[in-house]
Amino acid sequence: MELRFRNTLTGEIEPFEPIEEGKVGLYHCGPTVYARPHIGNHRAFLFADLLRRVLEYAGFEVKQVMNLTDVGHLTDDADEGEDKLEKRARREKIDPWDLVEKVSESFFTDLASLAVMPAHHYPRATGHIPEMLEMVCALIEKGNAYQVGEDVYFHVPSFAKYGRLSGNKVDNLEAGARLEVNPDKKHPSDFALWKSDPDHLMKWESQFGPHGFPGWHIECSAMSRKYLGDRFDIHTGGEDNIFPHHECEIAQTEALIEKSWVSTWMHTRFLQVDGGKMSKSVGNVWTLDDVQERGFSPLDFRFFVLRTHYRGAMNFTWEALKGAAEARRNLADFKGRLEASAHGAVNEGVCARIDEARELFQAALAEDLNASAALAVLFDLRSDFLQGDLKTAEEASAALSFLLEVDGVFGFLGPDEGIISLSDEEVESLIAEREEARQSKNFQRADELRASLMEAGIVLEDVAEGIRWHRI
Ligand code: AMP
Ligand code: ZN
Repeated sequence: MELRFRNTLTGEIEPFEPIEEGKVGLYHCGPTVYARPHIGNHRAFLFADLLRRVLEYAGFEVKQVMNLTDVGHLTDDADEGEDKLEKRARREKIDPWDLVEKVSESFFTDLASLAVMPAHHYPRATGHIPEMLEMVCALIEKGNAYQVGEDVYFHVPSFAKYGRLSGNKVDNLEAGARLEVNPDKKHPSDFALWKSDPDHLMKWESQFGPHGFPGWHIECSAMSRKYLGDRFDIHTGGEDNIFPHHECEIAQTEALIEKSWVSTWMHTRFLQVDGGKMSKSVGNVWTLDDVQERGFSPLDFRFFVLRTHYRGAMNFTWEALKGAAEARRNLADFKGRLEASAHGAVNEGVCARIDEARELFQAALAEDLNASAALAVLFDLRSDFLQGDLKTAEEASAALSFLLEVDGVFGFLGPDEGIISLSDEEVESLIAEREEARQSKNFQRADELRASLMEAGIVLEDVAEGIRWHRI
């Protein structure tokens, strides 16, 4: 598979070329652990999971890192405002470290119920303070950062390529009215690498003073560097991360390593709810608990998210989730029917129809993860099957292994899903077909049909009057 991804850095869909052949380093901006992730956050995490699975499906050895931001993410995403975590901890009157534990646990529980494959590392910002300080000091030494009192700022005009990712060039920023001039900064767009605040609850002693804490951007630069090295392949996040977070990450890291850093930047479009932003005042900041309380499986939500292109508009409504749940059930049902038709046959031969489907599936995924086109291939196969195609044991078995291959990438089926449920009419018709086979002495076919019925939980009894059946 020749993968192509849209790179936010260039705005183009480009062939993906790993730095080291056969291997991929992946870094994702993970949750700020001040509140249980909402379903919007999960769109970003599910995208990360799909990307990792597609890379592995394409044969790459992937090292995946997702951080947990447990300090330094301020309410306005830049240098001003309160630390989100401390604000919440004060409001709930709990220790910020306890809040981190509580929320991180809910994050991991959510990931497990969404069948997200565990990343290889989940670094927490507070566990990497020395690595961050090392970068901050190196940037001062290089002349890209400066200390004012106990704070340290990155000097944006010292990095000529600033603005390449987001288009927010220094000159535009200067003209922008939103930037309040902080008298400590040499330039209004300079950003904090290290901040000092005696009232901050989580604080560290450093060469800059007794009570400092890191800026949000330096956290991801330092953590990705520790686990993936100076350069790596793909960095992702939601579209809100492009600016200032990722723009600043690029500036400070490239200033330090003096070469280009991440090859491909990929960003998920925001999930909207009821056509707008999720907001507390509207009361539509849903979590996975809400999804389950309304009778949906977390996998319904997973399927709802992943069947749409990661850069496509996505509007969450309960009605839309219901549609996704139905579509997912149809695929589970398809699996059950294929299992019944294949009844244990192992497909070793060539099945042209399935080979063609696989090619289409792979081509769709390879073109910037075109999930809807990739899944359409499976739905088309299902329609063909329901219309009478792919009914021999060999064909059904080839289709089944393809379905499982698709599920390996999208992960929409739970472990005990896909148990076929036949209607009474369908049972009667399969029994009639079996009778016909028996009459014409096609005992192999008759046995196959009996096995299929068994797999669907239908027990046949040969009684004096003919066939009687019941469900297990
Ligand atoms: P946060 O916990 O705010 O740091 O966000 C964690 C991740 O979720 C980041 O990559 C965000 O860009 C992403 N994110 C936040 N809200 C949404 C949303 N509504 N849709 C998609 N991604 C989101
Ligand atoms: Zn980040």
